[in-house]
Amino acid sequence: MIYDYLVIRFGEIAIKGKNKKTFVIKLEKDVREKLSRFTRLEIKRHYDDIEIKLNGEDGQAVIKILQSVFGIQNISSAIKAGKDLDSIREGILRIVSEETEAKTFKIAARRKDKRFPIHGSELNRELGAWVLTHCDRLSVDVHHPDLMLRVEVGVHETRIYGHEYRGAGGLPVGTSGKLLLMLSGGIDSPVAGYLMAKRGAVIEAIHFQSPPYTSDRAKQKVIDLTKKLQSFGGKINLHLVPFTNAQLAIRDQVPEDYRVTMMRRLMFRIAEKVAAKTGALAIATGESLGQVASQTLESMNTINQVTNLPILRPLIAMDKLDISRIAKQIDTYDISIRPYEDCCTIFLPKAPRTRPDRKHAAHFESFLDSDALVDEAVQGVETLTIDGRENEDAFSSLL
Ligand code: ATP
Ligand code: MG
Repeated sequence: MIYDYLVIRFGEIAIKGKNKKTFVIKLEKDVREKLSRFTRLEIKRHYDDIEIKLNGEDGQAVIKILQSVFGIQNISSAIKAGKDLDSIREGILRIVSEETEAKTFKIAARRKDKRFPIHGSELNRELGAWVLTHCDRLSVDVHHPDLMLRVEVGVHETRIYGHEYRGAGGLPVGTSGKLLLMLSGGIDSPVAGYLMAKRGAVIEAIHFQSPPYTSDRAKQKVIDLTKKLQSFGGKINLHLVPFTNAQLAIRDQVPEDYRVTMMRRLMFRIAEKVAAKTGALAIATGESLGQVASQTLESMNTINQVTNLPILRPLIAMDKLDISRIAKQIDTYDISIRPYEDCCTIFLPKAPRTRPDRKHAAHFESFLDSDALVDEAVQGVETLTIDGRENEDAFSSLL
């Protein structure tokens, strides 16, 4: 590849006003961390972008990694030229002769340095004519060019951009505080975690398991999902909660049609305590309105009663098909459809109540020793730290 630079552009961070610098510094840190194995890269932070000099490193491999970093709107490959017309022309020709597939082009030139004597539109004409006389293969297409050549004349040098690659968008991880993700082995909750990490949240994950009714393979599934999520958002503490006794108590003491409601109320009570221990300020779930009995407004209203923490439901207005599409994009789908049961599916009725109310729920809950069940579960929490930087062996020794 002839391009010796990559330029990272910010999305929403760019409009953060006074806070912009904090966001950009965090993004630079994330970029450096993710690219640490490419030792020859030179990374420089500017006001409007982060510039990477490749120094012979594999540009495509670097781009692929950058596309998973939140806070990046797009990444352009680029070369540099001097601030004289000849040098810019020469740079343009270098790109044109590399991009042999392109049949049409457009020049989009901009003067950042207002002292540069040629205006943007004049530069467009000048460079466009130059390409036409030097390359028979190419013609101009201002609407849908195969090759968009952006030229930016800066204070010290000129950058000429080739391809633009889409970034993941969002905000740098950690700029939005910490939340506790209720992570099941299903399709939805990993997507919810991904979307929240994309908005800059640090994720802690909590998973309820009911051994021996749930298997080690169900646990492994959740660990594998967490591993996927951490590849986007960084290190994740996964809190595994022993939930068997709570489920047995619910089975024995609560009428069938209220068991799902009761189980979810206990889950929220436990999650609230774990959140307090970890400093998480909210709980996130993979619920989507109307998807199943426990996700009607009546259910959510009744379940929410037990906690004052904000419950974030990033998938609430999404269809299952759209959620599944994201799951495939982020590579969690195939893990989620592994057939192992999680704790929600055992002991639960075929026809749970779709419109539970708070009064009945509180009444049935009084049959349970909720506080003791919650305390026992919280005390039995096993926490795994899932961090991509550890090697596989160190990781599996945790299991
Ligand atoms: P998912 O695909 O995320 O499992 P779902 O459509 O199967 O969701 P439910 O089983 O009703 O729906 O669960 C709703 C939400 O409750 C999940 O998205 C998840 O956030 C949380 N949840 C369910 N089961 C567990 C569990 N065993 N551990 C942790 N959280 C859970
Ligand atoms: Mg589920």
